Amino acid sequence: MLSLGLDELEALRLADLEGLYQEQVAEAMDVSRQTLGRILESAHRKVAQLLVEGKTLRIEGGKVEMSEMREFKCMGCGHTWEVPYGTGRPGECPSCKGENIHRADAPRGCGAGKGRCGRAGGGRAGAGRAVRTEG
Ligand SMILES: [Zn+2]
Repeated sequence: MLSLGLDELEALRLADLEGLYQEQVAEAMDVSRQTLGRILESAHRKVAQLLVEGKTLRIEGGKVEMSEMREFKCMGCGHTWEVPYGTGRPGECPSCKGENIHRADAPRGCGAGKGRCGRAGGGRAGAGRAVRTEG
């Protein structure tokens, strides 16, 4: 499995997709041209592998916004509430202080950027398909 860093992805986007000069890309990404050269070289090699060898690509290393909320339900009083990701599992019900708390929403391991999910159709997770969360 190949992993493409967000810096590589961004370099590809700016240089290849938007057609900026490398010096403009380097400036936009706040890196030196030498660094950008390395990033682009690495990115191009990975893209080539991706196309030629049909590898699976994973985008990583960036600011992936986890704006999802987790929903919890109190078994004691039936109160449900939402907690944003990253704040940890609540210890008690905010309503009755009960501790018999369960996740109310269906656990979805198929969240943003995880890949290897969505097998509903039975197809393999598309090789050579890059998914990017717009930020
Ligand atoms: Zn409660």
